[in-house]
Amino acid sequence: MATTATEGERHVHVLAVPLPAQGHLNPLMRFCKLLLKHHQNRGSLRVTFLDFYAANDSADHSFSFEFHDDRLLQRVRFPFPSLSQPLTSLGTFFDSLVCIESGLEHLIQFFNRHGVPVTCLLTDVLTTFPTQDVADKLGISRIAVFTSSAARLLLINYVAQKDILSMETVMDAINSKERRDELFCDSVPGLPRLLNKDLPHYNYIIDDTRTVWEFVNRSWKACNSRAHAVVINTFEELEPSACSLLSQDCDVPLYDVGFWIEILSGDTSTSMREEDERCIGWLDQQPTSSVLYISFGSTTILSKPQFEALLHGVINSQQRFLWVLRPGLVDDIDHCSASKEIISRSENRGFVVDWAPQLRVLSHSSVGGFLSHCGWNSTVESIANGVPILCWPYFADQHLNARCIVDVWRVGFDFKHSVKGDYLIESHEIETVIRSLIEGKEGGILRKNAYELKQKSSRCFDSSGSSLLKLTALINDM
Ligand code: UDP
Repeated sequence: MATTATEGERHVHVLAVPLPAQGHLNPLMRFCKLLLKHHQNRGSLRVTFLDFYAANDSADHSFSFEFHDDRLLQRVRFPFPSLSQPLTSLGTFFDSLVCIESGLEHLIQFFNRHGVPVTCLLTDVLTTFPTQDVADKLGISRIAVFTSSAARLLLINYVAQKDILSMETVMDAINSKERRDELFCDSVPGLPRLLNKDLPHYNYIIDDTRTVWEFVNRSWKACNSRAHAVVINTFEELEPSACSLLSQDCDVPLYDVGFWIEILSGDTSTSMREEDERCIGWLDQQPTSSVLYISFGSTTILSKPQFEALLHGVINSQQRFLWVLRPGLVDDIDHCSASKEIISRSENRGFVVDWAPQLRVLSHSSVGGFLSHCGWNSTVESIANGVPILCWPYFADQHLNARCIVDVWRVGFDFKHSVKGDYLIESHEIETVIRSLIEGKEGGILRKNAYELKQKSSRCFDSSGSSLLKLTALINDM
């Protein structure tokens, strides 16, 4: 049952609706916890987080409640038949929007009937249709959460406003396979120097990158004109020009209030997979900064030849490693035998898990580098823990993030010379770059830069830190 508000009490009831994908669930939950932590009058703020579970029946709209943290944070279990499918398929993505649409109004009316009216929807920018429509229809304010970088949003905004970049220019660059290593732009305000391949694309999973761009474009335009505010998981000192250009150019108030990873708590995990804690015990046994953590996030898939090249490179580098071999990570391979093969060839230098408690791993003193697909969450988690990154981007915003990691923040390496056609990186280069990151002089410089960036990020929630000031302004505005 939902708890009722005390009579006469002015309350804010935030209903948080994530996209059912790991990289979108984690930041939304962390932001909810951040709101609860920093709201001055905690008793008057109630946050309800919508959790999806895999229902068997597409007609099942039933939901149930779970309470956390002295009943201030409650979670509603909500059925979503396609939950086990990766959202990277466009069909599953649109299914998730239909599922949200079918249940959201119903859920809000349930709260209204039980005396805890929803006053604010907190939803992903990508769920603008239908959540902004529902908010407008019911007269509720909506705050949209953008779960990637300010640079990515700036790029979207330029295309949406059609003044600096057109959709045609972007599509032409993305679709020109033979020109992928050529310069796309030298001086687009607020963006790093980009190559064609750095533009967010989806060619690796679907053929229709343009459909995704057009959808994101429409969602952003509606957010920019109809949302109450937009929050981004970044901070001013990390992306100063992108943040400042966005606040000048956008009609909606923007709050760059990251980094939300200061909010950690076991009982509000949003992990869709079971985390294998044994790797922490193994890390405890390893020397400081000696371990390479390898993870490609929740959706990226490696081809078999790429996996084999990576395995050779990792083993030949002779470095210690912790590898997240998510079931389904490698195309066309038996997961169990792949794990066994890695372990048997590692000569006790390696540990393999299906899924790791990533934040605990990255904050462990034994971890000296992160071989990452550069999803935005992995990027911010690595930066916040001062861990240098070996960039292995695949799709979406990952190349753009990698460009910032390598060229702007100088906290990572990429594989410059050997990326061939369909992302085949040679094992020899992998071996050399891993060695250089973990025990080379250049790796030491990156680690020092990463430590400095970590210090900066940890100050953004100090008493006069940029993120805290903006968060306070946002809370006052709610
Ligand atoms: N993650 C995790 N354990 C793993 C791998 C990833 O907890 O073994 C988490 C990670 O901490 C991050 C999220 O999954 O919060 C992945 O998000 P990201 O944006 O990096 O990539 P995506 O999965 O969206 O491609």
